[in-house]
Amino acid sequence: MIKNYFRPKTIDELSELKYKTNGYLFSGGTDLFVKLRAGIIDTDTVIDTKYLDTKGIEIKDKKLFIPINATYNELRYFIKENKLNNILEDIVKTIGSPMIRNRGTPVGNISNASPAGDFVLASYLFNAQILIEPSSKKIPIKDFIKSPGQINLEQNEFVYGIELELLTDYKFYFEKVGRRNAMIISIASIGILIKEEDNKINDIRIAFGSVAPTILRDENLEKTLIGKTIDEELFKYLANEYQKLSSPITDVRATKEYRKSLVHNLVIKAYNNLFEKVVR
Ligand SMILES: Cc1cc2nc3c(=O)[nH]c(=O)nc-3n(C[C@H](O)[C@H](O)[C@H](O)COP(=O)(O)OP(=O)(O)OC[C@H]3O[C@@H](n4cnc5c(N)ncnc54)[C@H](O)[C@@H]3O)c2cc1C
Repeated sequence: MIKNYFRPKTIDELSELKYKTNGYLFSGGTDLFVKLRAGIIDTDTVIDTKYLDTKGIEIKDKKLFIPINATYNELRYFIKENKLNNILEDIVKTIGSPMIRNRGTPVGNISNASPAGDFVLASYLFNAQILIEPSSKKIPIKDFIKSPGQINLEQNEFVYGIELELLTDYKFYFEKVGRRNAMIISIASIGILIKEEDNKINDIRIAFGSVAPTILRDENLEKTLIGKTIDEELFKYLANEYQKLSSPITDVRATKEYRKSLVHNLVIKAYNNLFEKVVR
C-alpha cells in the first residue's frame, strides 16, 4: 500500500528523495500503477515527477529533445507543428488509446524497459541518447537498457530526457502485430529506416520489438548492407538473418515459433511497402 507520496520541484530534490527513500518515480503512471495493482512491484513510496520544472519538447543542436513528463499527445502536437519525422508519428499514434497518450510519456516507456515498448523501438531507430540527471551524462539507448525491466541508473539518478536524431529523406516502414488494434502489447513489431541513392543503401536501421530480451537491432549487420542494391533478394536474405538473430519466448500472447515466423514475414512485408512512405 502507498504510504508516502512526494512531488519534488527540482532536480536535486528529486535525486535526493530517490536516493533516500528508494521510492518509485512516475509521470503518467500508466505502467507503474498497473504493476503495483498486479503485485509485480511492491513499494510504499512513490515520487511524482510532474511538478519538476522543464522547458517542454524542443529542437536542440539539430536533435529532437523530449524531456521528462512530456506526453505522447504533446509529442504528436510538436511533430505536427514542426512538420517532423512522420515515422515517429506513425509509431506514437499506435501507442495505447487517446487516454493513455494523454498521460503516458516516452520517458516512462524507456524507463519501463519492456522489449515490447514502442517508444523503446523508436529510440533504437533514431539512435537515442538518454540524458541522466543529476550527473548530466548522456548514454546511448542500447547501453541504457540492460535487460527486460532493467535500466542503467545509479540509485540517485533518473532519466531527464531523450534526444533523437532528426532524419530527413528516409524511406520507412513500421508495423506492430497484436490481437487488437488499440491498447495492445505487441506480439512482434518492426521498424525500418533506409536512406538510398539510385536504389543503393546509404544508411539502414532495422529494429524489432518483442522478439528478444531487448529490442533487436544489429548495427554490424546493417553496416554490411551499405552500398547494396535494394531488391527482393536482399530482403529475403535479411528475413533469414533476422529470423536467426531473434530469440523470442513463448508467452500468453504467442509462441516463440510464431514470433520467429513473424520476424521473417515482417521483413518481406516491409520490402513490399517500403517505397510508399518517406520521412520528409
Ligand atoms: C491500457 C494500456 C495500453 C498501453 N499501450 C501501450 C502500447 O501500445 N505501447 C507501449 O509501448 N506501451 C503501452 N502501454 C504502457 C505505457 O502506457 C507506456 O509504457 C507509457 O509510455 C508509460 O509512460 P508513463 O509516463 O505512464 O510511465 P510511468 O508508469 O510513470 O513509469 C514507468 C516506469 O518508469 C519508471 N520511471 C518513470 N519516470 C522515470 C524517470 N524519469 N527516470 C527513471 N525511471 C522512471 C517508473 O518508476 C516505472 O517503473 C500501455 C499501458 C496501458 C495501461
